[in-house]
Amino acid sequence: MKYIALFFTISLLHCEITKDELLGKITPYNHPEFTKIESNGKSFWLREEVALKFKEMAKEAKKEGINLYIVSAFRSFEEQKLIWQNKTKRYPYDSKTKTVKKVLEYSAMPGTSRHHWGTDIDIVSVNPAFFDSKQGRKLFNWLTNNAPKYGFFMPYSRYRTNGYREEKWHWSYKPIAEKFLSEYTNLITYKDLAGFYGSELAENLKIIENYVLNISEN
Ligand SMILES: [Zn+2]
Repeated sequence: MKYIALFFTISLLHCEITKDELLGKITPYNHPEFTKIESNGKSFWLREEVALKFKEMAKEAKKEGINLYIVSAFRSFEEQKLIWQNKTKRYPYDSKTKTVKKVLEYSAMPGTSRHHWGTDIDIVSVNPAFFDSKQGRKLFNWLTNNAPKYGFFMPYSRYRTNGYREEKWHWSYKPIAEKFLSEYTNLITYKDLAGFYGSELAENLKIIENYVLNISEN
């Protein structure tokens, strides 16, 4: 009986998503569910299952002459903060709200990025113009037709009325990410979004409702 109880305790601990995991406040190299993945000569961190599925998908793409590679995967709260702070400096408008809204077109506030979860990847290019090129259109067409077979979907499609702009490069591993999203609603409040430029505006701008929860379900 003792052993059975212990087994269930360990299994429960294993499945439980923590607040720190939701906010990117972890170090992937000593997290048991993360693995390092090499892509196009660079190293990234992802949850093991996500890395596995990406590799399978890239292998199939290669057979069809498509070079699928990662340009961004897991990002910690601190890494996202660096991106965020740098971008806000790029748009020094008179109004702080205006600056924050401009950055929010393509970048998440620290603590609200799906990249914190180790379930999401940016593929090949984060430049919207690339996806208008012949090569970009071919890539996107392949992903649209094939990524769902590997569990990936595009959370920031154009079929939304607010939130981030369309991101054809951002793909999310649904089987794990959907659990993170539902835990996000349970565990995270606006009090958790603090310590960066404009964090005091998060609640007024409804960042959780309009950005975190506002995704396409395709
Ligand atoms: Zn992304």
